[in-house]
Amino acid sequence: MTLPTHAGVVVIGGGIIGCSTAYHLARDHKADVVLLEQGKLTSGSTWHAAGLVGQLRSSASITRVLKYSVDLYKGLEAETGLATGWKMTGCLRLATNADRWTEYKRLATTAKSFGMDMQLLSPAEVKAMWPLLETGDLVGASWLPTDGQASPSDITQSLAKGARMHGAKLFEDVRVTGFEMKDGRITAVKTSKGDIACEKVVNCAGQWARQVGALAGINVPLQPVKHQYIITEKIDGLATDAPTIRDPDRRTYFKEEVGGLVMGGYEPNPQAWTMGDVPNDWEFRLFDDDYDHFEQHMTQAIARVPALETVGVKQMINGPESFTPDGNFILGTAPECANMFVGAGFNAFGIASGGGAGWVLAQWVVDGEAPLDLWVVDIRRFSNLHRDRQWVCDRTLEAYGKHYTIGFPHEEYASGRPRIVSPLYERLRQQRAVFGSKLGWERPNWFAPEGIEPQDVYSMGRQNWFAAVGDEHRHVREKVGIFDQSSFAKYELTGSDALKALDWICANDVSKPVGRLTYTQLLNTRGGIEADLTVARLAEEKFYIVTGTGFRTHDFSWISDHIGEGLDATLADVTEDFGTLSLMGPRARDVLADVTDADVSNAGFPFGHVREIAIAGHTVRALRVTYVGELGWELHVPIAATGEVFDALMAAGKKHDIRPVGYRALESLRLEKGYRAWGSDITPNDTPQEAGLGWAVKLRKNTDFVGRRALEKTNGTALKKRFAGFTVDDPEIVLLGRETILRNGEPVGYLTSGGYGYTVGRNIGYGYVRNADGVSDDFLASGDYELVVAMERTPAQIHLGPLYDPSMSKIKA
Ligand SMILES: Cc1cc2nc3c(=O)[nH]c(=O)nc-3n(C[C@H](O)[C@H](O)[C@H](O)COP(=O)(O)OP(=O)(O)OC[C@H]3O[C@@H](n4cnc5c(N)ncnc54)[C@H](O)[C@@H]3O)c2cc1C
Repeated sequence: MTLPTHAGVVVIGGGIIGCSTAYHLARDHKADVVLLEQGKLTSGSTWHAAGLVGQLRSSASITRVLKYSVDLYKGLEAETGLATGWKMTGCLRLATNADRWTEYKRLATTAKSFGMDMQLLSPAEVKAMWPLLETGDLVGASWLPTDGQASPSDITQSLAKGARMHGAKLFEDVRVTGFEMKDGRITAVKTSKGDIACEKVVNCAGQWARQVGALAGINVPLQPVKHQYIITEKIDGLATDAPTIRDPDRRTYFKEEVGGLVMGGYEPNPQAWTMGDVPNDWEFRLFDDDYDHFEQHMTQAIARVPALETVGVKQMINGPESFTPDGNFILGTAPECANMFVGAGFNAFGIASGGGAGWVLAQWVVDGEAPLDLWVVDIRRFSNLHRDRQWVCDRTLEAYGKHYTIGFPHEEYASGRPRIVSPLYERLRQQRAVFGSKLGWERPNWFAPEGIEPQDVYSMGRQNWFAAVGDEHRHVREKVGIFDQSSFAKYELTGSDALKALDWICANDVSKPVGRLTYTQLLNTRGGIEADLTVARLAEEKFYIVTGTGFRTHDFSWISDHIGEGLDATLADVTEDFGTLSLMGPRARDVLADVTDADVSNAGFPFGHVREIAIAGHTVRALRVTYVGELGWELHVPIAATGEVFDALMAAGKKHDIRPVGYRALESLRLEKGYRAWGSDITPNDTPQEAGLGWAVKLRKNTDFVGRRALEKTNGTALKKRFAGFTVDDPEIVLLGRETILRNGEPVGYLTSGGYGYTVGRNIGYGYVRNADGVSDDFLASGDYELVVAMERTPAQIHLGPLYDPSMSKIKA
């Protein structure tokens, strides 16, 4: 077959991800697809994968993606005639201590929330299922019967055949060597056998994806890491349908294979492979066996399966796999180039993800937007920081080393820090700030009082910061606090068509007079919420846009991708130009009045307005907004003046007992006030109406905007899910999110966020209540609610409005 000169979509890479993407593009979308593989299909990481297929993740959407893989692998042979080796053996996860057991109880509840049946088993039950296991040290195990294992190469060949059957053209021994680009878009793919003009490109080049991306100026932050497992000779008494085992306290996993065992693990001292380019001819290749490094797994595995002590090892597999700095894979439209899509960095669960990742990626390629909430894997979660290879490598190795450690709530990474600091970093450190990191920025989480070590001590119950954060919270409610939010992402949109562009992009009405603020969502074509931000009109043709730290790349590219053709509107990222100080609390006005001559009275500077005011000789953009439910201002200060303005506020605030406050108190304050957090409470899966944010949508205005058509269709019809708040009185309960919501004893949803409200003195959770026949006010009010927390039912009260100051009187004073 000769290489075509044109294709609709060129998929680069013939591993499981490329083949699955090509299959779905051809099957679901009848796309004109060409797949190019530099060697033979499967010859990268895919051929040597162990083939364990797990499904449960902490994101509902990613769990759905993995469940889809399983469904696909079950049925693919019937379509293509090529078996996938799928065996539904189930998976046992072993627990040897109380914290791990709590983790599993929470996991089992998450599974139920996501519609999966995970059970907890006793050591005796585990022994009965897997007699060769040593179970003396077990507290128990979790059991997910629908997990299993498959043959990575067979699935990939089956997907490749299916892709061809649906019309895709697959070529081996064709290497992509570059791209032709015009106006920031790829127009043709250059290969070792000629050029192919194309509309879209999907980079599924596995550990080569970084260098393939770089050919078009695109950053794919992944790091190849060596990953090892052994395959043993036959073991007497090992059943061919033995469940796969994950033994995280011993950092190892097991899978039956032709009567023997596959055994591998995640060591705390992983070995990165090259920091340079991965060789192009790395085809069906492995590293030398490294038994010295592997011994740590061997010792642990023998203690768990004593039969391993005497059985022979048939083969060691020591192969490279691409890992990422947060352990999640990378999907979606490259922010640097709107027609390159990426599916890479699969962190040793590419076989489990392959089917589903190909499904959603194909849809993304065709529609130009993700078909569901894929934020945790979205390539736009990264920033320029992730162009630093050493940083990416260090953080990736840390994430790899944590693969099997207990996932404590609120845990922070330690590597590569501090990386980006605000001008207040040293000042806050001296005030005993305990920092967390977000997109590389150090941000104060809490301030340790004298006598308490300024450091997080993680546990499954209340952690060491709980009381201190309560003090910070009350301080903001009763006096005044100052938050360093300099890491906020900030953009300016300027030009004669800036308003026109925003009218189309924003769901809320931003066509307000100069000096006004608008809180708005940005919607996708399904009406789902893609972003949630504040737009300030600084001048007729100039808008200032503020959004969350982590959403910097995502929101920037969403906005710039949706500025209409030919409009005079220029978007600039000005994040580093401004420090942001949020002055919040009933005494905020007293403090501000002391440092500026501007009129900051309610009449002179009402809620929802932006003004330029002078503080300590510097011009400051003051936005009268709040995320905490108190009177307050967000002060955007020229970055170099942040320290001076902070000092002035602290000095003036002394008599009002001002103090710095951290992000954990902010979270507690916003939970009481019911402000939705993007990424958890509101996502691309949720519409403003479902989220209770219909008031912020300009449906009554005659202006078209992205998502309008979808919202019009559902407007006035019964909503099938609705956002609601819940409180739980029991002080022993810890809410984190993903707990199941029961209405009259039946599951109706799960929490999207959870925490503690110190003013209301109760646990607070938010989530969507679902009902196929519609969720009316009556339906919500008439039920008896409980939450399932770590498998225990606890009574809960439902709330449809803010828990704190429902009349907004504190904010608008
Ligand atoms: C030891 C080990 C055990 C594992 N065990 C499991 C497991 O139990 N379960 C699980 O789910 N996952 C497991 N994995 C992970 C799994 O193997 C990977 O996640 C998966 O194979 C990744 O598939 P891919 O298609 O992204 O990459 P690859 O299979 O590497 O495919 C990428 C392809 O792109 C091609 N390519 C690169 N550059 C170019 C170019 N310029 N032009 C054309 N083609 C190009 C390459 O030749 C390659 O074939 C394991 C990995 C390892 C290393």
